[in-house]
Amino acid sequence: MSTPNLPEPPRHSPERTCVACRSKRPQGQLLRLTRTPQGWSVQQRRRSGRGVYVCADSPACWQEKKLRRAFGAKAPDVAQSLLKRDDPQPDQQMTT
Ligand SMILES: [Zn+2]
Repeated sequence: MSTPNLPEPPRHSPERTCVACRSKRPQGQLLRLTRTPQGWSVQQRRRSGRGVYVCADSPACWQEKKLRRAFGAKAPDVAQSLLKRDDPQPDQQMTT
């Protein structure tokens, strides 16, 4: 029997560690935060500089106290960014 549509090979999906709960997950299930001169920002596509990862689907991981370990004094800001991200606003905007 051949299986034409194999799911992604287990070995090859890049895994990252959530800084809040320390669990390893496929990169696609994590949000990437990168450090900018203005602070940390949530970026899902850009790959620039160094980033840290937080679960995309787990609000528990967006809590300030969980982030403090990784972000220190910036934890409140990061928590805010993650929560704001909830606002569904993709890049493309309708012109009105
Ligand atoms: Zn997590």
